[in-house]
Amino acid sequence: MNDHRKLGRELGLFGTDPLIGAGLPYWLPAGAAVRHALEEYLRELERQAGYQHVCSPVLARRELYEISGHWSHYRDGMYPPMVLGGEQLLLRPSLCPHHALIYRSRGRSYRELPLRLAELGGQYRAELSGVLGGLTRVRAMQLNDAHVFCTPDQVADEAGAALAMIGQAYAALGIEPVRYRLSLPGAGGKYVGSPHIWEQAAAVLAGILDRSGLAYEEGQGEAAFYGPKIDVQVADSSEREATLSTIQVDFYQPGQFDLHYIGADGARHRPVMVHRSVIGTMERAVAHLIERHGGAFPDWLAPEQLVVLPLTDAQFPPAASVAREAAALGLRARVAGPELGTLASRIRSARLVPYQAVIGAREAAAGQLAVRLRDGRRLPPLPAAAALAGITARIAAHRTDLWDGAA
Ligand SMILES: [Zn+2]
Repeated sequence: MNDHRKLGRELGLFGTDPLIGAGLPYWLPAGAAVRHALEEYLRELERQAGYQHVCSPVLARRELYEISGHWSHYRDGMYPPMVLGGEQLLLRPSLCPHHALIYRSRGRSYRELPLRLAELGGQYRAELSGVLGGLTRVRAMQLNDAHVFCTPDQVADEAGAALAMIGQAYAALGIEPVRYRLSLPGAGGKYVGSPHIWEQAAAVLAGILDRSGLAYEEGQGEAAFYGPKIDVQVADSSEREATLSTIQVDFYQPGQFDLHYIGADGARHRPVMVHRSVIGTMERAVAHLIERHGGAFPDWLAPEQLVVLPLTDAQFPPAASVAREAAALGLRARVAGPELGTLASRIRSARLVPYQAVIGAREAAAGQLAVRLRDGRRLPPLPAAAALAGITARIAAHRTDLWDGAA
């Protein structure tokens, strides 16, 4: 497999600068295009699954993390407080506390549950500079996160639906997990809450994995401090394992934040929080996609989706017009003209672009495109509008196979 750091440089996806600091990569236009395609896909997937998106700040007062338990159980991973006036502000280590406060911002009825709040939000981890590198060990990251607030009866369905969503996203992205792990508490005092709620939460997650038919292993000592979780593991280019997706069942934080809803019986009840991330952080997800596909991303993620290749200068105007039409359809397209070299060398340098449309004198006269696919297949010449419509429809379908001219 490929090292994402090397490919990231070669393909102009991201970079770093010592003046910004270690573990704080910036995204170049090609990398940002991949990331934005991924973000848009995730938001749409979540909308279709009944999630509502919120936005919350990346800073909060220290008291918030004292209540959530992060301050006493996760302080080593947090940046020191910023003192401002009489307050101490912290860069957040997770989004959960903010979402709990959004839930609590008004009274809730059982009729509103499950309430699914999602956010692609920034979070921060205080890592020492020696362990930082590429997109996988970073100090600032953007997490695809969500919290489902639900009744105890709804937990299994909600966590099960989250697992199905992870499977759907992996199919669209061409990702294959190396294993599923049921992460349980280990020895030591870093866990909060009573043994009873841990057993209850672990039983729910084991039941979901059992019903899914997926093989899984138990990981002692891998749980979050507030609850057990399902971790979906992937391997990097050095076959090191990392967690990409997680589902956690949490009976603890709702109590810490005194969350409640009014039940059908008119009484106050405590909701359960299901924390879930379909694809983890944008940094880790894109690093994995770079390595997994060797830079030849599925067409819907590719930084450039279509390159238009006029054979000679005479075909430059129709090529430019095809590229403009493609852009109007939402495709990321550009013209690579004869000034960049022979047709063969232009095709070689566009080898990772999924669709390469050649326009010679014959195609120009007929308003056609001779489309080549990245894998070397050639389609028969097609009317330009039909070719662009076929490519656009395939990209909207979020598949991993390229359009081959079939309707
Ligand atoms: Zn959370």
